[in-house]
Amino acid sequence: MIYLDHNATTRPCPEAIEEMQDALLRLWANPSSTHAAGQAARSALADARARVAAFLGCQGNELVFTSGATEANHMALLGGLALGRSRGRTRLVMSSVEHPAVLALGQRLRAEGHVVDLIPVLADGALDLAAAERLIGADVALVSVMGANNETGVCMPVGALAALAHAAGALMHVDATQLVGKHGLRFDACGADLWSASAHKLHGPKGVGALVVRRGLALPALLSGRQERQRRGGTENLPGILGFAAAAERAGLTQAADLQHLQALQARLERGLLGLSPAVHVYGRSHPRLPNTTCLRFGELDADQVLTRLERAGVLASSGAACSAGGTQPSHVLLAMGESPVRAKAAIRLSTGRDTPAEDIDRAIAAAAACLLPLLAEPALATS
Ligand code: PMP
Repeated sequence: MIYLDHNATTRPCPEAIEEMQDALLRLWANPSSTHAAGQAARSALADARARVAAFLGCQGNELVFTSGATEANHMALLGGLALGRSRGRTRLVMSSVEHPAVLALGQRLRAEGHVVDLIPVLADGALDLAAAERLIGADVALVSVMGANNETGVCMPVGALAALAHAAGALMHVDATQLVGKHGLRFDACGADLWSASAHKLHGPKGVGALVVRRGLALPALLSGRQERQRRGGTENLPGILGFAAAAERAGLTQAADLQHLQALQARLERGLLGLSPAVHVYGRSHPRLPNTTCLRFGELDADQVLTRLERAGVLASSGAACSAGGTQPSHVLLAMGESPVRAKAAIRLSTGRDTPAEDIDRAIAAAAACLLPLLAEPALATS
């Protein structure tokens, strides 16, 4: 199996599995219990918080552990909106290529009467900063933009957006789920107030993530309760949090070398695929992208057909966001970039990981050549 779907999820690393196992077997007491077993769990939680904070670039007391990035994003948007409302600010601004869960929350808020504006993207997937400047005004509570797009890997100008948001008196949230571990930018360097991350995108477990809340910001809780300094109720998922800490620590140790490796794989993959046929098109190449992500289409061959053929040849990939894969909808990201519905439905995503060997890239290119080139050569398709 050649796994090229790391933006959907990654394989948990041995360090994370080991710490989770230890937590399940040994540290199963409730960290809120005052007895010795509870205190041992509490101390492991404090230790994990410091390790994740060191990796994300924040203070331990700025970190709120959540069930993942979806929850962190909800907490950021709903909390940011509530804070804004208390200061007479009612508008939300996000990009048109956010993760489907963020866009769905935006739609829900719109149905409830809020004004939610979408910043468009340009043809290469880059955010339209001039449009952002026009949209970010004195009535905006929160600007929420992803650090990098999960489908195209295109990086967003979050530092510039944070400056625009702050100049207008608004808060800035970055959904850094795809950025973390695949880009050097950290919370402390980007100027944002809120920063979402998820463990399973960096070889940690699923069902655990974090929201970084800048010190001094009294963001209301999504789930009431005493845990996480009253910011997120519910008994802490200690095995998950320890797995997150181990994965973060492990990622931090080799990040510079991993990024170089991913960059080399990306260059090799794109050179190989573009060399197969002039009908192969890679999206976002003119713009800074994540080093592990390649979004492309083979002429106008439908993504479902392409993915089925690749999988038969042992290559696992996906079309756009995993959360909407399996559906027959064209990618909202490609549509926002101005692609036709047919082309937006042709786009697939190949995403590598730090453990992907160069041979997997060569085998994936060979598989594409064997199972897709004959389809591209069919007369009806060749003329499209
Ligand atoms: N935001 C982005 C950009 C993502 O790629 C994902 C994962 N598909 C999420 C949020 C949701 O993360 P989680 O699975 O931790 O809820």
